[in-house]
Amino acid sequence: MTTAESRPNASAQDPGAAPRRTASVKSHQIHRHRGEGQWAKGHFTPLNGNEQVKKDDDGLNVRARIENIYAHRGFDSIDGADLRGRMRWWGLYTQRRPGIDGGRTAVLEPEELDDKYFMLRVRIDGGRLTLAQLRAIATVSTDYARGTADITDRQNIQLHWIRIEDVPTIWKILEGVGLSTTEACGDVPRVILGSPVAGVSKDEILDGTPAIEAINERFIGSREFSNLPRKFKTAISGLQDVVHEANDISFVGVVHPEHGPGFDLWVGGGLSTNPQFAKRLGAWIPLAEVPEVWAGVAGIFRDYGYRRLRNRARLKFLMADWGPARFREVLETEYLKRGLIDGPAPAFVPPTERDHVGVHEQKDGNFYVGFAPRVGRVDGPTLAKIADLAEAAGSERIRTTADQKMLILDVPRDRVEPLVEALAALDLQVRPSVFRRHTMACTGIEFCKLAIVETKALASDVIDELEKRLPDFDTPVTVNVNGCPNSCARIQTADIGLKGQLVRNKDGEQVEGFQVHLGGHFGSDLDDEGSFGRKVRGLKVTASELPDYIERVLKNFQAGRHEGESFAQ
Ligand code: SF4
Repeated sequence: MTTAESRPNASAQDPGAAPRRTASVKSHQIHRHRGEGQWAKGHFTPLNGNEQVKKDDDGLNVRARIENIYAHRGFDSIDGADLRGRMRWWGLYTQRRPGIDGGRTAVLEPEELDDKYFMLRVRIDGGRLTLAQLRAIATVSTDYARGTADITDRQNIQLHWIRIEDVPTIWKILEGVGLSTTEACGDVPRVILGSPVAGVSKDEILDGTPAIEAINERFIGSREFSNLPRKFKTAISGLQDVVHEANDISFVGVVHPEHGPGFDLWVGGGLSTNPQFAKRLGAWIPLAEVPEVWAGVAGIFRDYGYRRLRNRARLKFLMADWGPARFREVLETEYLKRGLIDGPAPAFVPPTERDHVGVHEQKDGNFYVGFAPRVGRVDGPTLAKIADLAEAAGSERIRTTADQKMLILDVPRDRVEPLVEALAALDLQVRPSVFRRHTMACTGIEFCKLAIVETKALASDVIDELEKRLPDFDTPVTVNVNGCPNSCARIQTADIGLKGQLVRNKDGEQVEGFQVHLGGHFGSDLDDEGSFGRKVRGLKVTASELPDYIERVLKNFQAGRHEGESFAQ
């Protein structure tokens, strides 16, 4: 196991730390043995620019420079490695310069794509927000982000148009109510997904919140995991409402026949390019041991994860090479120094029943009310109104979901319907059409530097069109619109997954469009770990043809469906 002293950025920043192991290794030996750049094998020499930036200085250290230098001297004073690298460790990405079309995404230099504004990602672990926290985000959105606010499919809220000069003030506002942007982006443990109905659901096996809080307290923002090969995504839930199949590590509620409620451990999931579902290690983890096991798996990723190529640096590639049996063995022998208890697989919950939209009774007799903003897009004033409506309904707790939705918890029965109506007046529907409910979209070309096509506005128009054209269609169908192959809105696990790219229209002109993936889904039962949507060879649609195309697919499905058949079957 790699020790803190032997890790590259530990010695880079800490004058008292032991010298790096690489100091005594001759350069020809490094080249001969560099392999995948795994620290556990002594390969500490950075093999690409990203690894060099992380070795030169820990990403967490950029905060001091933002507060003491960049916020005073402005955008142009920002060091390039900080601007396009380390600032992510504090949730800041430069956003795309307006007016650059998708055809130029791959050919322009980063500085030509960069706007002088930032996206700021607010980390909302477990999707848990108090009214004060929601109001603080609303204030930041309204006062410093031109009103923007997008709920992501990882329970975060992203703000745009952020000026570097305002960042210290924004942190003061957010941190004043217990929110943070620490490690919201970057090669670090990202936000921890958690059930939005943890502690209130009648169906949950156990409440994972204490584990989320413990991991946050002990490991987020610590130097122990501030230089991972790439991002590390976590999900912990006593239900199955946090896409556990698609995270680097997931703890899924399960009842052990002898030991009772605990978690089933899944490792190595990830979508993007080369998608892979997480693998069960067959281990049952009690709640109190989740942080230790989480740190063990994060440690394996840090020490054995591949660092040579960015596109092979996610944990899923190590899992693909090792397999779950070897992974568990390394975890037990090298990291935990003890065996784990074997455990059963959790019973399957269909993905379309995981989003919590609608009115549901809690175990205390109150209700939670889940509603669907359009493709996750809200704004500062709307967030403030949601807080007011929740308060008027007797609630103090708001939740975000992994499906770009929001919930208000703890609503007494007699205040439910007035709340439902008040939310509808804000176009936040508690009983939305299947199209509104099951359509997601990533950020797309409006702000994302990797995007090839526009997504949010298009997806919103598609919802309107389908609601008009197919008013009686009631089968849940997931439509996920992505601006590039990176799958931030889960292309491969949607019934209709759309991957943004330039396509030819019928006049032969290059226009925005999508490669279509059909029939993706998470596991349908215990013997089926799920399947990724089939890329329909040659099937590409232009953005303007999208409503017609989806309408045709759904009408064909309707015409040929059997009673009770879902779209994925
Ligand atoms: Fe950006 Fe691509 Fe992710 Fe969409 S899928 S947010 S375009 S990186």
